[in-house]
Amino acid sequence: MAAAEMITIDGSKGEGGGQILRTSIGLSAVSGKAIRIERIRAGREKPGLMRQHLTAMKAAAEICDAEMIGAELQSQTLQFQPGPVRPGSYEFRVGTAGSATLVLQTVLPALIQAEAPSEIIIEGGTHNQWAPPFDYLQRVFLPLLNRMGPTVEAKLERYGFFPAGGGRIHVTIQPAKMLTGFALLERGAVVSKSARILISNLPLNIAEREAERLARRLNLQPEEVKIDPVTAHGPGNLVFAEFAYEHVTELATGFGRVGTSAEHVAEETVQEIREYLKSPAPVGEYLADQILLPLAMSAAQPHTVRTKRGGSFRAHKLSRHTTTHIDILRMLLPVQIEVSEMESDRVVTVSPVDAV
Ligand code: ATP
Repeated sequence: MAAAEMITIDGSKGEGGGQILRTSIGLSAVSGKAIRIERIRAGREKPGLMRQHLTAMKAAAEICDAEMIGAELQSQTLQFQPGPVRPGSYEFRVGTAGSATLVLQTVLPALIQAEAPSEIIIEGGTHNQWAPPFDYLQRVFLPLLNRMGPTVEAKLERYGFFPAGGGRIHVTIQPAKMLTGFALLERGAVVSKSARILISNLPLNIAEREAERLARRLNLQPEEVKIDPVTAHGPGNLVFAEFAYEHVTELATGFGRVGTSAEHVAEETVQEIREYLKSPAPVGEYLADQILLPLAMSAAQPHTVRTKRGGSFRAHKLSRHTTTHIDILRMLLPVQIEVSEMESDRVVTVSPVDAV
């Protein structure tokens, strides 16, 4: 790999986490441009590639026949020389309870614009803390992505909770040649509000206490709260509060964990959804950083008369994760990203550089 042709990214930038890695490699697969990432996850307690990141990198390499140097556990430098994207059928295994949805996040950019459909199976954790739970992927992120042109459908074949893992997701991708941008500045009318509690291999009364707390604090009717006992290799408990609107859905998640009471987990979920309900902004904290990438890809496309390139969204607050993501996208794509204020919210506008 000739170093001169390679873009070098400093993985310690901003919050210095795994997103820099997933976005850089995901976009390298799209553009076909080689990339070198240095100081990988330098901002984290255990820097370098963890199992879940390594699986994501290997998955990205497989779909575009990339050559990699430094693809090993704990490695803090990675060189990625992509070949052409090869849509098709793939199976990726994280091998631990590491997040399956974050592996998907890495390969999606290239596959949603590929020449042919793909079908992907990913085994690992499906409901991990600090990653999009499967339900979030399916109910919040994919509906918005699908409005941009591709049709991505995700099915959960097996639950995988931390620490046992063993989950399995099945994703089909019908790509779109062009990604259509959007403006998402309003939620629209309320369609439904509900809560759902997942419980596996744990006493049901945990879920009942969570259900009671959620119903009371969010003013939900009994039929709006559902307890879902599920089968998995190990114990698991998650609490979801879902508010669906005409233009967007928000899903707040509480992760049950050892040493944290059921009431506390429910309360965390209540706080998260209340934070969202504080302002009229349609885009929540996590959707902001996840939708930025496809929106920036749409802005970076060549001009055509038919396709809207880029667009804007309104979010209440931008996390450090999101601002780091904005910086990375500015470096990797020919786009302009501006953040302005609207009442107590932020509006993020992504435009093609040739349009500014
Ligand atoms: P690191 O271990 O370096 O922190 P990471 O690879 O585990 O990195 P982050 O860089 O923190 O991950 O990125 C986490 C991703 O998961 C982001 O896309 C974020 O939006 C998403 N995410 C985290 N928590 C949630 C949640 N509760 N709901 C939806 N998405 C979430």
